[in-house]
Amino acid sequence: MKYVIGITGPIGSGKSTVLRILRELGAETIDADRVAREVMARGGPAYEAVVRAFGRDILRPDGEIDRARLAQKVFSQPEALKRLEAIVHPAVFEEVKRRIARSEKPVIALEAIKLLEAGLSITMCDEVWAVLVDRDVQLQRLRRRGMSEAEALRRMAAQLSPEEYARRANVVIDNNGDLDHLRSQVEAQWRRIMATLARSAVPEKGGEEGSWT
Ligand code: ADP
Repeated sequence: MKYVIGITGPIGSGKSTVLRILRELGAETIDADRVAREVMARGGPAYEAVVRAFGRDILRPDGEIDRARLAQKVFSQPEALKRLEAIVHPAVFEEVKRRIARSEKPVIALEAIKLLEAGLSITMCDEVWAVLVDRDVQLQRLRRRGMSEAEALRRMAAQLSPEEYARRANVVIDNNGDLDHLRSQVEAQWRRIMATLARSAVPEKGGEEGSWT
């Protein structure tokens, strides 16, 4: 049995950091943004359809999709963005499903804000975590990461409110404290999931008869 945790939250809230901690604890981690880049790469399953929909002028000289130019085309055009997502999301979904099936780890952490916002959490994830921070901490961490204040504010404005993330999540991770505080919350959730999985484990077929009491 595979247990899938969806990780959501606004930009700079600490999702990648939570993923890293989960990887250290033994989870498989999947970054759906990275998968999206891969399915759109030349030869990837979404490449042809994206080029057909948005024209060859989104291509770089080497034939790869110029993501900045593509972003420009769909930026502030909800219809175009919807068209792009209708091509890319199913391809990402398929690839993520494949990776989950292929993984040998019992727990998979999936960072996939867009997919989760699109409601796919229901079909793909056993539970969803929202990683949340207060606005001032978020802004400060994004600035420290090298983002300009204007860019940080623009991105923050384009996202769901913390309440909305919390409403859609089963677990809220509060990342206003230091890294130890974050780690202890993740470890507590990890222990809970491990205990649940141990309880629901069934003996392997062919195992000793009657050993499961
Ligand atoms: P996201 O993936 O949600 O955009 P990140 O995990 O990249 O967020 O975190 C944003 C930045 O804040 C990174 O530079 C990260 O190292 C830093 N960070 C995350 N959690 C903490 C924390 N508890 N204390 C200090 N810095 C943190």
